[in-house]
Amino acid sequence: MRRVDTLVVGGGPAGAAAACELALRDCDTILVERSGGPHHKVCGEFLSVETLTYLRRLGVDAMTLGAVPVETVSICTDDRVASASLPFHALSLSRYVLDGALLQRAADLGVSVQRGVLVRRVERIGRGWIATCDDGAIIGCNHLVLATGKVGLRGIEDTRDGSMVGLKMHLSAAADLRHELAGRVELFLFGRGYAGLELVEGGNANLCCLVERDVARSVGTDWNRLRTFLAIANDRLGMRLSRAEPMWDRVLAVTCPQGGHLNRDGGGRLYRVGDRAAHIPPFTGDGLAIALGTGTLAATCIAEDRGAADYAEAARRLGRRPVRLAGLVSRLMARPAVRRMMIGAASRIPALTATAVRGTRLPGHRHGGVSRKRSTWWPEGCLPSHR
Ligand SMILES: Cc1cc2nc3c(=O)[nH]c(=O)nc-3n(C[C@H](O)[C@H](O)[C@H](O)COP(=O)(O)OP(=O)(O)OC[C@H]3O[C@@H](n4cnc5c(N)ncnc54)[C@H](O)[C@@H]3O)c2cc1C
Repeated sequence: MRRVDTLVVGGGPAGAAAACELALRDCDTILVERSGGPHHKVCGEFLSVETLTYLRRLGVDAMTLGAVPVETVSICTDDRVASASLPFHALSLSRYVLDGALLQRAADLGVSVQRGVLVRRVERIGRGWIATCDDGAIIGCNHLVLATGKVGLRGIEDTRDGSMVGLKMHLSAAADLRHELAGRVELFLFGRGYAGLELVEGGNANLCCLVERDVARSVGTDWNRLRTFLAIANDRLGMRLSRAEPMWDRVLAVTCPQGGHLNRDGGGRLYRVGDRAAHIPPFTGDGLAIALGTGTLAATCIAEDRGAADYAEAARRLGRRPVRLAGLVSRLMARPAVRRMMIGAASRIPALTATAVRGTRLPGHRHGGVSRKRSTWWPEGCLPSHR
């Protein structure tokens, strides 16, 4: 059996951020990630100001990785468009590139990164944990960082619904469509979900949708079926998609909860980070910030010996306001009459969209970056003073 102080299970942004921060604080860490190499993930690939702040802190510069700027958001129903300038700096970058760069950064900082290995189960033994991997390895650790994203892990209790499905396809866009999408993120609302469209590095477009489970079941992973469904659901999106070609054989899919969700468990040297700690409705484009924020927060609590209960409370403070507000907006938007009314109002008063965008930001982050008052790099008051 191999022993380590901290085991991070999952190498998405949350796990990689935790591992980087632990390495920066000289903590002995192993990260285990089931995928053998870089891969695409269901995500709108929008990097908010908070995400960019956390990335910079970890030493990852999205611009040098090829990210493209996003300055405007447009929310489109069949018959209306509400556009507004984003009240902060944002970028767009594929998860293929971003997740790969974060894991590389962790390895460069000295973390033992084990790719292509699945942790099958974990077991609490005394004050620590034992993990059993599919390659036969057994790892014993004092602290366990659970960063498995939307999937659970045997040995850790979990209650989550999976009533929605995220679908994604990268598209090769015609030159005129590329021109129209430059600098924008477009959100298309329809009866049984919504979709986002924006350019990523290399001039390709990312289409990412969140739809009800039975829609996803009838569409499967077939691009033509998805395109037909979306064209019927929202005319404007249909027109966009008629000028784009799919870049992959299959549509990517992942199940996820509806609305917002904050995990309430804490303690036992178990640190739930990223989507395991909180789920924020995807239209906010803030899931990555929560992943990076909770990952670094967990690492700090481990390094400073604060304990998992302090961490869980701090993670809840970080996500509480945006998760609740975004959950409320997504419930309202699911009602056709309210949706029409809200988009009608936002198309007449662009400041309403900017206000809603600001309201779903993580605390402590201001228009251009992080509040200047702060001596630490995460939101003031999030972490109680060290006991
Ligand atoms: C439709 C949709 C659109 C979104 N759009 C945006 C957006 O535009 N901007 C934004 O900021 N957020 C967005 N999000 C949210 C964002 O994608 C997630 O919040 C983020 O990926 C969470 O990161 P994570 O590290 O917690 O999980 P993940 O990125 O899912 O990483 C988990 C990792 O754990 C690994 N793993 C799982 N189980 C095991 C195991 N047993 N052993 C070893 N490894 C394991 C997986 O292979 C994976 O790499 C969107 C989400 C959805 C569903």
